[in-house]
Amino acid sequence: MSSDAAAPGTDTPLLLIVSSPSGAGKTTLTGRLLAREAGIRFSVSHTTRSPRATELNGREYHFVDRDAFEAMAARGAFVEWAEVHGNLYGTARAELARLPLPRAILFDIDHQGARQIKARIPDAVSVFILPPSMAELERRLRGRASDDEPTVQRRFRAARDEIAHYGQFDYVLVNQELDVATEQLVSVLRAEECRRRRAARHAEALLGERRGG
Ligand code: ADP
Ligand code: 5GP
Repeated sequence: MSSDAAAPGTDTPLLLIVSSPSGAGKTTLTGRLLAREAGIRFSVSHTTRSPRATELNGREYHFVDRDAFEAMAARGAFVEWAEVHGNLYGTARAELARLPLPRAILFDIDHQGARQIKARIPDAVSVFILPPSMAELERRLRGRASDDEPTVQRRFRAARDEIAHYGQFDYVLVNQELDVATEQLVSVLRAEECRRRRAARHAEALLGERRGG
């Protein structure tokens, strides 16, 4: 059973971080997770990158200029932020607090952001997506057709450095068959929701109930 709200007795959403080298399939997989599971809110980051043709301000990202981003960073408005592929990206603190609190919040952020969130909120769960091979990664980067060739090349060159950080993540999935990888991501979410610490309040409430009579 899945529900829009957090599990009984838990009042904090599960924080699910998904990272990967560009082109490994993170957007595709997180899109499928959102379509499959109710009650998951996608954390909309701020970025100084220009929108792609398919992107809408406020849906994929809040698109801002560098001055606006730096002003937000200076006043501590981000829970994490980092420079990725020459642009600034950050998660506003407001994204974590927005009401009503959902069952889970999904973060599509890089390894630097993942580390910052885990340092502040150790309960956050992090997943890294690997491509089946470097040749397939390059094919997928090109196949996306939304980025020009220099951008594809820059992102492909950065992939090795990103993959080198796989060890900091709780889970690592290989996105070969889309259906298999989707199933694995859904399984991570569902298993993490069953962690003992997330049920502690509910269990204690049951123990505190009077016997019916
Ligand atoms: P990312 O968000 O990690 O940059 P995308 O989700 O945009 O990656 O995927 C990059 C490209 O690879 C897209 O064209 C997508 O359709 C394709 N793709 C994603 N997963 C698979 C898969 N398992 N098999 C084949 N192609 C895939
Ligand atoms: P893209 O430009 O392809 O949308 O994203 C490029 C990279 O930036 C991806 O690795 C993505 O996960 C990362 N990213 C997106 N939003 C954030 C964010 O808010 N913080 C950090 N640290 N990385 C982000």
